[in-house]
Amino acid sequence: MSFFGTGESGTVDKKKYENLTLSIRQTVLERSHNRCQKCSVKFKGSNGPFFEHINGSLKDNRPSNLRSLCNKCFEHVKKKESRKGYLGSLRNNLGQMFGN
Ligand SMILES: [Zn+2]
Repeated sequence: MSFFGTGESGTVDKKKYENLTLSIRQTVLERSHNRCQKCSVKFKGSNGPFFEHINGSLKDNRPSNLRSLCNKCFEHVKKKESRKGYLGSLRNNLGQMFGN
Protein backbone atom coordinates (compact mmCIF):
# COMPACT_ATOMS: atom_id res chain seq x y z
CA MET A 1 0.00 0.00 0.00
CA SER A 2 2.06 2.94 -1.23
CA PHE A 3 -0.69 5.38 -2.02
CA PHE A 4 1.54 8.45 -1.74
CA GLY A 5 4.25 7.03 -3.97
CA THR A 6 7.89 6.71 -3.10
CA GLY A 7 10.08 9.70 -3.87
CA GLU A 8 9.12 10.36 -7.46
CA SER A 9 10.76 13.74 -7.78
CA GLY A 10 11.20 15.88 -10.85
CA THR A 11 7.60 15.71 -11.98
CA VAL A 12 5.81 18.44 -10.10
CA ASP A 13 2.15 18.44 -10.96
CA LYS A 14 0.76 21.88 -10.24
CA LYS A 15 -2.79 20.58 -10.03
CA LYS A 16 -1.68 18.30 -7.26
CA TYR A 17 -1.32 21.38 -5.05
CA GLU A 18 -4.48 23.19 -6.04
CA ASN A 19 -6.31 21.84 -3.02
CA LEU A 20 -5.21 21.60 0.56
CA THR A 21 -5.48 17.85 0.87
CA LEU A 22 -5.24 15.75 3.98
CA SER A 23 -1.79 14.47 3.05
CA ILE A 24 -0.49 18.04 2.56
CA ARG A 25 -1.93 19.02 5.96
CA GLN A 26 -0.23 16.03 7.53
CA THR A 27 3.11 16.94 5.94
CA VAL A 28 2.92 20.50 7.28
CA LEU A 29 1.79 19.35 10.72
CA GLU A 30 4.55 16.77 10.96
CA ARG A 31 7.06 19.45 10.03
CA SER A 32 5.75 21.81 12.71
CA HIS A 33 5.38 18.99 15.27
CA ASN A 34 1.66 19.73 15.58
CA ARG A 35 2.36 23.22 16.87
CA CYS A 36 1.64 26.77 15.80
CA GLN A 37 4.59 28.07 13.81
CA LYS A 38 4.19 31.53 15.33
CA CYS A 39 3.58 31.06 19.05
CA SER A 40 4.42 27.32 19.32
CA VAL A 41 1.16 26.43 21.05
CA LYS A 42 0.12 22.82 20.55
CA PHE A 43 -2.98 22.23 18.46
CA LYS A 44 -5.94 20.69 20.21
CA GLY A 45 -9.70 20.93 20.03
CA SER A 46 -10.87 24.08 18.25
CA ASN A 47 -7.49 25.76 18.54
CA GLY A 48 -6.43 24.77 15.04
CA PRO A 49 -4.67 24.00 12.95
CA PHE A 50 -5.24 26.69 10.36
CA PHE A 51 -3.04 27.10 7.32
CA GLU A 52 -1.52 30.32 6.08
CA HIS A 53 -0.44 30.62 2.45
CA ILE A 54 2.93 32.34 2.70
CA ASN A 55 2.97 33.75 -0.83
CA GLY A 56 -0.71 34.68 -0.62
CA SER A 57 -1.84 32.30 -3.36
CA LEU A 58 -4.65 30.04 -2.20
CA LYS A 59 -3.96 27.75 -5.18
CA ASP A 60 -0.41 27.12 -4.07
CA ASN A 61 -0.72 24.44 -1.41
CA ARG A 62 2.80 23.12 -1.54
CA PRO A 63 3.98 22.35 1.99
CA SER A 64 6.76 24.91 1.51
CA ASN A 65 4.12 27.60 0.97
CA LEU A 66 2.11 26.64 4.04
CA ARG A 67 2.43 27.51 7.70
CA SER A 68 0.35 25.91 10.42
CA LEU A 69 -1.17 28.43 12.79
CA CYS A 70 -3.39 28.35 15.84
CA ASN A 71 -6.75 30.05 15.98
CA LYS A 72 -5.33 33.23 17.51
CA CYS A 73 -2.40 33.68 15.14
CA PHE A 74 -4.56 32.99 12.11
CA GLU A 75 -6.74 35.93 13.13
CA HIS A 76 -3.70 38.18 12.67
CA VAL A 77 -3.06 36.68 9.23
CA LYS A 78 -6.61 37.46 8.21
CA LYS A 79 -6.16 41.06 9.39
CA LYS A 80 -2.89 41.33 7.51
CA GLU A 81 -4.56 40.15 4.30
CA SER A 82 -7.30 42.76 4.55
CA ARG A 83 -4.74 45.48 5.33
CA LYS A 84 -2.85 44.47 2.20
CA GLY A 85 -5.96 45.29 0.23
CA TYR A 86 -6.16 48.66 1.91
CA LEU A 87 -2.53 49.46 1.12
CA GLY A 88 -3.13 48.47 -2.47
CA SER A 89 -5.80 51.13 -2.88
CA LEU A 90 -3.63 53.62 -1.00
CA ARG A 91 -0.82 53.04 -3.49
CA ASN A 92 -3.18 53.76 -6.35
CA ASN A 93 -4.01 57.10 -4.79
CA LEU A 94 -0.30 57.91 -4.38
CA GLY A 95 0.26 56.99 -8.00
CA GLN A 96 -2.30 59.54 -9.01
CA MET A 97 -0.59 62.17 -6.86
CA PHE A 98 2.82 61.53 -8.35
CA GLY A 99 1.45 61.35 -11.84
CA ASN A 100 0.39 64.97 -11.48
ZN1 LIG B 1 -0.22 30.70 17.50
